[in-house]
Parts: sequence; structure tokens; C-alpha cells
Amino acid sequence: MSEPINIDALIVGGGCAGLFALRAMRAAGMSALLVENNSLGFGQTTASQGILHAGVKYSLGGLAGDDAKEASEAALEWVDMLDATKGNLNNVRVLTRECYLWRTSGVRGAAGMLGAKLALRTRPEALDDALRPAWLAGVSGEVLTLGETVIDPISLLSELAKPHARCLLQGCVTNVRQNKNNVDIEIESSRRVCVRARHLILSAGVGNQDILGLANIADTPMQRRPLRQAMIRGALPMVFGHCIDGAKTRITVTSDCVGDVASDVVWHVGGQIAEDGTAMSESEFAVYAMTEIKKCVPALAFKGCEFSSYPVIRAEPRTGDGRRPPKAFTSTCANVTTMWPVKLVLAPMAAAAMMKQLSITAPAAREPLHWPADLARPVLAARPWDTAQWNPIA
Ligand SMILES: Cc1cc2nc3c(=O)[nH]c(=O)nc-3n(C[C@H](O)[C@H](O)[C@H](O)COP(=O)(O)OP(=O)(O)OC[C@H]3O[C@@H](n4cnc5c(N)ncnc54)[C@H](O)[C@@H]3O)c2cc1C
Repeated sequence: MSEPINIDALIVGGGCAGLFALRAMRAAGMSALLVENNSLGFGQTTASQGILHAGVKYSLGGLAGDDAKEASEAALEWVDMLDATKGNLNNVRVLTRECYLWRTSGVRGAAGMLGAKLALRTRPEALDDALRPAWLAGVSGEVLTLGETVIDPISLLSELAKPHARCLLQGCVTNVRQNKNNVDIEIESSRRVCVRARHLILSAGVGNQDILGLANIADTPMQRRPLRQAMIRGALPMVFGHCIDGAKTRITVTSDCVGDVASDVVWHVGGQIAEDGTAMSESEFAVYAMTEIKKCVPALAFKGCEFSSYPVIRAEPRTGDGRRPPKAFTSTCANVTTMWPVKLVLAPMAAAAMMKQLSITAPAAREPLHWPADLARPVLAARPWDTAQWNPIA
């Protein structure tokens, strides 16, 4: 066996959680390296709709719980990070700084909208009928606008990875052994690599469970919440917003251009339909999702557009009732720390909580350390629509 590489921290998983953790540790002068077994952000971060939630989804019905408050505080932090004069993530692609909230008619929809208005720190503003975009024509309920920023998650991963490219390894953890003061980790990359780290940081999303198993840690249980996201491609307006029905978000739509052609737009659609769709076949879901979307956006016929969908799993700490955990999660057991940010918007907070939990505050004077140059490097994961199979919409 070759001599191990001695470092302060090995981070497993290069989604938004792992890359924010790497950024925080290297900013504190630590020798930290990251290993990714697929492509950066594969799984949840590339599937993310990129909404830096102002808390609206979690305050429908009038009760702004911990999750609404934490998300809305985190959203404020992002304002600075994305600001060219203050943060260094100012090259992240911002898709919009304003989302629409509209409701399907009925008493339940009205109650949900009222709740959002009362509970949010960033209050939605009523939109004058004359200012409604054409795609909202035919919506009988009220329309609000909300200062909610949406980013391109792939450009976030790219900006986080760029300064630390030589700290990223493509490889698979095959063995973990906990010692008294450190952890020995074996990695299968373009060759076998051994690492001895003071801290092992698990930020592998759904992959955390396997590594926890390798490390014999049984008291950090995970839950999986499956979703099926819908995508529509064609000559569509760029739409960002939530259609509300009672305490539920019936659909959440975000948009992007597929390539450089402005008329080739893709809608990425989640919300309640994505939760309902997990029990359906792909073809059943196509019919159900399009029926829902057309009810929410009655002005559009989607003529000439194409549909696709894909399954994805949210990986989170287990809650008693299987519902969404309210906060980002970090937990340390001996020399192993597990992170599930729960939301992309909370990933910087999760990294800060991890640093606090490990009592890492003052910058350490360490030589910068990189992976040996002959080892494989991970690439960015593809956007869901770049690899989709499209079917015409009837
Ligand atoms: C459909 C969808 C929409 C969402 N929309 C939003 C939104 O609009 N706003 C928001 O704030 N949040 C949103 N979220 C939540 C957010 O995307 C996730 O909370 C966040 O991306 C989780 O990041 P992560 O880095 O923990 O996990 P992931 O992004 O899943 O990254 C884990 C990484 O670890 C790697 N990995 C896995 N196993 C191993 C292993 N054994 N060894 C090495 N590497 C491994 C994976 O390849 C991947 O790169 C959404 C989630 C989904 C699923």
C-alpha cells in the first residue's frame, strides 16, 4: 500500500454542499480535498430549480415555520454573494430576480395567497391587471410578484469548482477506517489512492448512506423523497413562479434557454405535480402533468412543444413523519461529519454550520495541497434537459 496523503479534511461528494464545504475549508487555510464518484452536482443540484427561496413555498396558509425563516435569511446572504462589489460568486448566472405568484380560483387558493402575504419577510406585491404578462391571461385569481432570485445551478457549481479545480478528484471511496484522531480512506480513481484525514466530510447526497455504512455509523439515518420533474421545450415565454392552491404549490415553473437560440426555451416544472408523479408511469405522468400545467396557465396551448420528465430523489436526514426537514443538517460522529443542506439555498449555511461544529474559525497557515496531477478530474453534470428524450405534446 502506498503512503497516504495526509490532509485536514476529505470531502466526499461534489454537489453544492460539498463545493461550499471545500470553499469554506480552503478559505480557512485548511488542506482539504474533494472526491466525486460521478459528475459534479449529479443527482439533486443539477435537478434543482435554482430558486433562492424567499420562503414562499413554506409559508402558504399563513404559518412561517423554521424552514420559511431560515430560507428567507439564507436568501438575503445570497444577495451579497451574487453582488459583484461584495461577493465572489458574481459570475453565477442569475435567471431572474422576480417570480410571479398566482392562484387558481377558489377559496383555498385565496387562503394560501393571503398566508404567503402575511408570513413572508419579502412581501409579495399585488400586480396591476394591466401589467400582467400575456401568459397570465385567463388567470381568474390575483397575481403577485415576489423578489425571489433564480440562479442557474450548473453555473453555481462551475464558479465554486473553478478556483479549486486541482482539489477535485474523480473516484470512488472503497474503504473507510476510523482511528482515534483521524480517518483512513481508500479511493479507487485512475489508480488507487490512500488518504489520512483529520475530518471526513460526507456531502454525497443520496450517496451518504453508503459511506456511513463503510464508516460503521448507524445513528445518522437518511430519508429519500422521490419526485418526478416535468420539462416542456419549445417557443415559450421565460416564466418563473408558483401557482398556488391552498397551502400547496400546484406547479413551480422556472425557465432557461436550451442553447444560444432565444426561442428554444425549456420550462422546468415541479411543485405538487412532481410529488404526485412518483406513483405514475412516464406516459401517465405526461398526461397528468400537461393537464395540470394547462389549468394553471390557461393562456398557452403548447402547440409545437415537446414534453419530457425525469425521476429524482431528495436525500435528507430522516424525520419522524417522512416530511421535509425544516433546516440544513450537519452532524459529527467522531471524525466523520455528515451534511444534507436540504435546499440549495441553505448550502452556504450548512458549510458554515459544519465549520462551527468542527470549531474551525481562525485561518490556519497551511501550504496549499492538491491531488497528484496524474489523477482523473470530475466534470460538471449535464442539465436534465440536455440528456432528455422529448415527445410531442398532443
Ligand atoms: C427537483 C428538485 C428541485 C429542487 N429545487 C430547489 C430549489 O429551487 N431551491 C433550493 O434551494 N433547493 C432545491 N432543491 C434542493 C437542492 O437541490 C438540494 O438540497 C441540494 O442540491 C443538495 O445538494 P447536495 O450537494 O447535498 O447533493 P447532490 O446535489 O445530490 O450532490 C451529491 C454529490 O455527491 C456525489 N456522490 C454521490 N455518492 C457519492 C460517493 N459514494 N462518492 C463520491 N461522490 C458521491 C454525486 O454524484 C453528487 O455530485 C431541489 C431538489 C430537487 C431534487
